[in-house]
Amino acid sequence: MKYKIIGLTTTALVLLAVTLVSLIIPEDNGTRYIEHIIAEEKTDCESHTNNAFCTHLPIVMIDTQGVSIPGRPIYDENHVKIGHILAEDNSEVITAKIKTFDNENHNNHINDTPTLSSDIKIRYRGNSSRSFDKPNYYIRLINEDGTNNSQSFIGMDAHHEWTLHGPFLDKSLIRNYMWYNIAGEIMEYAPNVRFCEVYVNEQYQGLYLAVETITAGKEGARLNIELNKKDNSFSGYIIKLDKGDTYNLQNIMPFTNYALRTHMQHEIVYPGEKNITHELHKAIKDDFSFFEKTLYSYDFDNPKYGYENFIDVNSFVDYFLINELTSNYDAGWMSTYMYKDIDGKYKMCVWDFNSACDFYQDSVMDSNHFEMQNCLWYVMLIKDEAFVDRIIQRYWELRETVFSEEYLYKFIDETVAYLDDAIDRNYSVWGYTFNPQYDMLSPINRNPRTYEDSISQIKNFLHTRLSWTDKNIETLRQYSSSSKIKKFNENAN
Ligand SMILES: [Zn+2]
Repeated sequence: MKYKIIGLTTTALVLLAVTLVSLIIPEDNGTRYIEHIIAEEKTDCESHTNNAFCTHLPIVMIDTQGVSIPGRPIYDENHVKIGHILAEDNSEVITAKIKTFDNENHNNHINDTPTLSSDIKIRYRGNSSRSFDKPNYYIRLINEDGTNNSQSFIGMDAHHEWTLHGPFLDKSLIRNYMWYNIAGEIMEYAPNVRFCEVYVNEQYQGLYLAVETITAGKEGARLNIELNKKDNSFSGYIIKLDKGDTYNLQNIMPFTNYALRTHMQHEIVYPGEKNITHELHKAIKDDFSFFEKTLYSYDFDNPKYGYENFIDVNSFVDYFLINELTSNYDAGWMSTYMYKDIDGKYKMCVWDFNSACDFYQDSVMDSNHFEMQNCLWYVMLIKDEAFVDRIIQRYWELRETVFSEEYLYKFIDETVAYLDDAIDRNYSVWGYTFNPQYDMLSPINRNPRTYEDSISQIKNFLHTRLSWTDKNIETLRQYSSSSKIKKFNENAN
């Protein structure tokens, strides 16, 4: 009987969702630029006589004058990573030149007038992706004298730091684009992104996604957090949970490290090397540790002293749901970003959906379970029934908007249509990765053999995942149980 009621409720909600979805989701929310929705449609060029490269997407051209880009991983004889290849002068970056071509109304060609032309510092970036044939790049725009050259980059707000992400394992090419944009629709901030096609030293490299790095910026660009330069003892900051930075002053050891709750490192991403001081390092460590100790205390859910005084609960709820819906299980333990302004509360920022939506490569990950409740901070939050309530309520809210199948399928189909012939151009270079010897997933039948397979994989995953979550979201309540002094229901004995 209970199942029937749940079934009926679900059907009613799905029907409601279908009816409401077009009303609730605006085509353009006025703030976030979602490329496939907002980019101007371009008229086809007259045919090019000389086979000139012609694309509706922005072009990014990097010229290193033949110098190798540093940052590939170095392994010892046991295949353990022991470092990265450095530049000839032992630095992590080399100087190179960049040009972008981003015409608003007509297609882009490498002989057009560049939209941006600048010197850059460049290296490979990422963890495992540093060894991929199609690597990711970290880029810092600089002036001739080496100072930062803050510029708009293919339409995104001006800054000097950028990432070029080359989807490689992700054969659909759209995972990060999709989930950064969807997160950006519902959370305060998610990195802005633009598709582009990349050349390095005149060699075509295929489709890339230009991504904002997660850092503070001026005049509304990126995260609005303040570096307090007058008083060097405190600042807004960004923390990343991952493998740690090579520069020691960037790594802190807060409560969850010294209490051995995690073996991952807490890395201060902002302020960076130029602005971090011993005083700031200590102040941030103490501040963050104070929050973590509160979270792990008996009073963790006390309205006066507890976690709600430290975190933006909505941000933690949305981060939980997006990573849970996509089974993006590095989140909460690696590539995990949290930020706060001087007087603000902690907020989460999404990053890295390469393994999301049935693409976890190293093991068979059964998506019919919840995982985020086991992560460092959520392991405590989930003990509070009020937090679980908010997760469940928010899930059903989002099911009517950005988590509705109608919205998600439309998003996918329209993105693929927008990419159009750039997909074929990308796979004219990287098409060999569909061959079985490049399979990354087990069992073998999970590996897409065509681009169409890779799109079906995401849709099938989302369909299964959503219907499983609809039926099981209530089971999250089992992580927060009543005790003698704490009851779910005040009237209960
Ligand atoms: Zn053209």
